[in-house]
Amino acid sequence: MNEKFWRLVDFLIENNDFYSKILKKVCVKSGDYSEIPFLTRKDIYEFGLSGTKSLVSKNLKIGYIFSTGGTTGKPKYVAYTFDEFELVSFYLSKCYDGIVESDVVANLFMAGNMWASFISVNRALEKLRCTILPISGTTSIELIKNYLGYFRPNCVVGIPTQIIQVVSEKTNFLNKVYYGGESFLENQIKFLMSIGCKIIKSGGYASVDADIIAYQCDMLDFNQHHIFTEHQFVEIIDIENGIVLNEKEKIGEVVVTNLDRYLCPIIRYRTGDLAKWVDPKCSCGRPTIELMGRFDDWIRLASYDFYYQDFAKALYPFQISLKINRSKSLVTILIENNDECKKMSESEIIEKLKLVNWQLKEGIEENMLKVEVQYVKQLPMTNKKINVIYE
Ligand SMILES: [Zn+2]
Repeated sequence: MNEKFWRLVDFLIENNDFYSKILKKVCVKSGDYSEIPFLTRKDIYEFGLSGTKSLVSKNLKIGYIFSTGGTTGKPKYVAYTFDEFELVSFYLSKCYDGIVESDVVANLFMAGNMWASFISVNRALEKLRCTILPISGTTSIELIKNYLGYFRPNCVVGIPTQIIQVVSEKTNFLNKVYYGGESFLENQIKFLMSIGCKIIKSGGYASVDADIIAYQCDMLDFNQHHIFTEHQFVEIIDIENGIVLNEKEKIGEVVVTNLDRYLCPIIRYRTGDLAKWVDPKCSCGRPTIELMGRFDDWIRLASYDFYYQDFAKALYPFQISLKINRSKSLVTILIENNDECKKMSESEIIEKLKLVNWQLKEGIEENMLKVEVQYVKQLPMTNKKINVIYE
């Protein structure tokens, strides 16, 4: 761990009730960073601004308070000083560095509701000196289309589900798309390219609690990101036992330590994102991760590990859900009634699955895992989102 981290530790011992106890015990005595317990989402609820507040440092002025909860459940809050927030927009602007002064950019991130994304991205765009259309994804689809048609921006930034609803053959003035929050599907990327988008890039890997973690240089593959090592210390840990994984290509959970957050410290925070260390093609010389989806997408059945993505890849471009029956070690693939897909037999689908993940292959061949296919009228949904995995 670097000097920047130990400076943060010194501050927290003096000014943070939650961390002073932990850090005095662990770091000061042994100097061993890896003994610091992981911070969980539950801790942020219980000890952050929505709970006892012991996780919020004293003697610092709160600039912004953001809500970081999802659309369901109790929201949790995280606070930034203005200097901390300024730094977030600085790193974000690095993620968007393909945007130049002559670009006209529509900001379609979600504004309002105490969310951080819209205003931090807007601030990052200001630094790039481009022309900004602060539309927001909360505006009605029809109005967004009107604004786009009238101002004809060449660049759009936002979340994929939002972007895909407003682009069409008519928006052929768009040539750059930067997205965050989730990934585009492969067929959506093909569509964007077909209507003239030349740059389709991740606007960085971030978590609302931990802020910006990594960026994508032009050479990196889809879902690969370089770590902002001066801002975040990243570990990948084994999902089961929490042991730090340093080997390349081993999938685990992303754990981050933000070296610049003093007000609401983020130390060894379990993000719930799955990733693996990879060797990038480029010469940037930065540690690089490939994101593999959310922790919730991971399935362990009969001691075999596999992911929703394995199935999505094998059945691309069809939309699917997975129903897991643990007592029978059975995975049922639900496919929305699709005649094209029906041309693929169940055994063909299973052969494809065996190619994407060796654990699935072994499990199926050893008869420890069973996979079946079912066609349904509609995939199971909650809050307009497909339940990708359920039991
Ligand atoms: Zn690079």
